Amino acid sequence: MLTNDELAKWDRESFFHPSTHLGQFARGEAAQRIVTGGEGVFITDRDGNRLLDGFAGLYCVNVGYGRPEIAQAIADQAKELAYYHAYAGHGSEANITLAKMVMDRAPDHMARVYFGLGGSDANETNIKLVWYYNNILGRPEKKKIISRWRGYHGSGLMTGSLTGLELFHKKFDLPLAQVIHTDAPYYYHRPDLAMSEADFVAHCVARLEDLIATEGADTIAAFIGEPVLGTGGIVPPPEGYWPAIQKVLDRHEILLIADEVVTGFGRLGSMFGSDHYGMKPDLITSAKGLTSAYAPLSASIVGQRMWDVLMQGTDEYGVLGHGWTYSAHPIGAAAGIANLKLIDDLGLVQNAAEVGAHLLAGMREAVGGHAHVGEVRGEGMLCAVELVADRDRRRFFEASETMGAKVVAAMLKRGVIARAMPQGDIIGLAPPLCLSREEADQIVTVTRDAIVEVLGPGSA
Ligand code: PMP
Repeated sequence: MLTNDELAKWDRESFFHPSTHLGQFARGEAAQRIVTGGEGVFITDRDGNRLLDGFAGLYCVNVGYGRPEIAQAIADQAKELAYYHAYAGHGSEANITLAKMVMDRAPDHMARVYFGLGGSDANETNIKLVWYYNNILGRPEKKKIISRWRGYHGSGLMTGSLTGLELFHKKFDLPLAQVIHTDAPYYYHRPDLAMSEADFVAHCVARLEDLIATEGADTIAAFIGEPVLGTGGIVPPPEGYWPAIQKVLDRHEILLIADEVVTGFGRLGSMFGSDHYGMKPDLITSAKGLTSAYAPLSASIVGQRMWDVLMQGTDEYGVLGHGWTYSAHPIGAAAGIANLKLIDDLGLVQNAAEVGAHLLAGMREAVGGHAHVGEVRGEGMLCAVELVADRDRRRFFEASETMGAKVVAAMLKRGVIARAMPQGDIIGLAPPLCLSREEADQIVTVTRDAIVEVLGPGSA
């Protein structure tokens, strides 16, 4: 077996890591962790640490690590039929069964599911379908996509453009011209502290209306949004936001894409965020929770009104020119079937609701009164703690102080993985949906101790 030093050296000299500071990593100045295993909500690494994974990988290992049922399903599928493509009407028992299971769980008005590999490619698919749809309907100029600042939709050319975080645009010549951004429904960051939640929703609606008026509704094809903003800060929408937005979109014949890569299959304590917030999307993007990341697989779930037009399109123009070699990969599909069964059998959607509420309440109790905690928020098994320099005046820390990252590092020392969200001093938590109350309590205690270590006792 390789020594830790050998492996670490190969890593620095060979491996181009995603979302990593390349120079610091190559020079050995940046964090490096070589993960060896996982069991339940814990991972282990080569340095002998056992860490409670409070972010479920990248909010994806929803059923937790080390599930033998999924491992077995993958092995069985690999032996029987590791791969056959899904082009031109080909399928396998695994991907056909998973399609049926997804449609049984999706909101009622959804019609078909297309399988890809990850959230980014599923969003690419969805944008292409939106463009195709408007071309078939004879509206070739209706193509722009509205996304929100702080939205996260992937890091490809189109999806990186949709993503409303500066880091993903900077020096990449993004966003592309077809993408326009509107305000994030981030009540804590409202422009005027005197605004009520209802005022703020009206403000978001007015900003959207202004953008549509400026650009012209006949140039705008779709609006994309996560039911709960994820990477942009874990921000549940203010009360009434989605119904108000939906009304505007309907009036201007703008399609709605619900990006449920994080929220799909249970994370909010409902099967889909669309159901949770009464959204009626034309397309749903899903990935992570579909297989709990045991194998890569994504789903673009297509609503009935779009499906009818897609069929009309291929009747007129022939085969839809869209597909990946690995679309609907049988091994991903086998993992998906076993994963969705486990979610049902273990009651994990319900557990996400209950233990998530326990985590949020515990966190509010433990750190909500701290002088440097501006807000504790969450929904289902998502929770965030936002740090501020001055709570009364809602003054944020300078980015260079990296307070969020410091608290997350102090949590790691205490055995809990949280994520410093990329914009702002936000400690993000998105544990596996199988988290127990005791594990939730451990996360709360560690968060409190870490905040006290970095920012002082902070009694208000
Ligand atoms: N959409 C959302 C809401 C996401 O959170 C992510 C990933 N964090 C993506 C899309 C992109 O998914 P992937 O990284 O699998 O391409």
